[in-house]
Amino acid sequence: MATTDPVTMDKIVSLSRRRGFVFPSSEIYGGLGSGYDYGHYGVLLKNNIRARWTEAMVQERDDILLLDTAIILHPRVWEASGHVAGFTDPLIDCRTCKLRFRADQLDQAQCGKRPSKRPGEHTECDLTEPRQFNLMFETTVGPVQETGSKVFLRPETAQGIFINFKNVAQLARRKPPFGIANVGGKSFRNEITPGNFLFRMREFEQMEMEFFVPPAEAEEWYRYWVEERVAWYRRYGLRESHLRVREHEPEELSHYSSATSDLEYLYPIGWSELEGVANRGDYDLRAHTEVSGTKLEWVDAGTGERYTPYVIEPAVSIERIFLAFLIDGYEEETVAERPRTVLRLHPQIAPVKAAVLPLIAKDEAMVTRSRSLYEELRLQFMVEYDDGGAIGRRYRRQDEIGTPWAFTIDEQTLDDDTVTVRDRDSLAQERLPIGGVSAWLRDALRQPWSTPKAA
Ligand code: ATP
Repeated sequence: MATTDPVTMDKIVSLSRRRGFVFPSSEIYGGLGSGYDYGHYGVLLKNNIRARWTEAMVQERDDILLLDTAIILHPRVWEASGHVAGFTDPLIDCRTCKLRFRADQLDQAQCGKRPSKRPGEHTECDLTEPRQFNLMFETTVGPVQETGSKVFLRPETAQGIFINFKNVAQLARRKPPFGIANVGGKSFRNEITPGNFLFRMREFEQMEMEFFVPPAEAEEWYRYWVEERVAWYRRYGLRESHLRVREHEPEELSHYSSATSDLEYLYPIGWSELEGVANRGDYDLRAHTEVSGTKLEWVDAGTGERYTPYVIEPAVSIERIFLAFLIDGYEEETVAERPRTVLRLHPQIAPVKAAVLPLIAKDEAMVTRSRSLYEELRLQFMVEYDDGGAIGRRYRRQDEIGTPWAFTIDEQTLDDDTVTVRDRDSLAQERLPIGGVSAWLRDALRQPWSTPKAA
């Protein structure tokens, strides 16, 4: 088996579209820049990413609770958080080609004139001075646009957590260290240069967790969360060679942060931020206390001790994880002189867990046995039944969407009640009693998995 091709973004975009993971949004109207819609397998993949994150953050621990906050919050939230004044990117326009660039990313941008150069390097370039551009989308509440009706679509989910600190700390009677995880959905940023497929979008689904700790323990917990999040990616099979931790230099830090590490993935565009882990100190709780007048601090009912906890935040979007998993899993290889494209996804991440296939689609007995196995399995797992076309093509279709196993019902099944199970990665086939398939699959899904893809 020889691997023929390195992964490019074009290949990922093409597979995503071909197999219905992701479609360009509003396509029949010419598309809308960075917008994408998720098809069937894309939704399943996103659901699995969210579920695995929630398991690790909440289900497997005793110290983190869930929260789902609104997209439109009181506008003063964004004044207190610093977003109204400071959530800006420096923007440069070119008067000649009418393109817009982020001033801090000119070295990665291309000028609109041919032959394409860096903005400013072409003789006809006519760049404006950088202007600060606020990334928050504005809208209005109520039927009339009047003073006071202006609101923002949230650019992050974290603030929804901070403003609920008191609710959770008091009502759930939690004592730091404890965390609150917001997996409620989308955040919106009017990015100047969206692109690179799902990497930089104007709407994306964030998964953020704020971990509140006694100030003296902040440094220790910050290190802990960097390690935990790296371990999560390793657990779900991301290659070690493609994941690294980069600690921010002091001049890179956001206004609220005393330390930040980016977990970077080697995307086809180069090493880029997959997830950020930040020590936000007590910045947010203090800012909201000051602006709202409500004290957001922790008070020990017994001793009367009170303090403003520090906050450690792992923040990531499902889109960047989705893209990293697709890239890490994508492989083209030649097997028995025939090419195949395979997505080597962790079985718990894969959209479909198994396919049930009658070897001969026209054989009624095989179809009946296959349908009944499928009906049994679908009660517990996301499985597919497929009797369309030659068996080799059906296997290839499942390989392309990353289905880890296929159960095939053949002549022998009709004689001895066994089926073959084909493994997506090794292509090994073995026989199992048909009555034991469900238990086999449940067990197989629980096993650790590591990618056979070369580093
Ligand atoms: P970048 O430097 O790439 O613009 P950021 O530092 O502004 O990202 P954060 O504000 O730290 O990003 O957001 C937390 C996480 O949200 C990021 O690590 C990333 O996973 C995700 N994210 C941020 N912006 C986008 C976007 N435009 N599209 C998709 N995901 C995003």
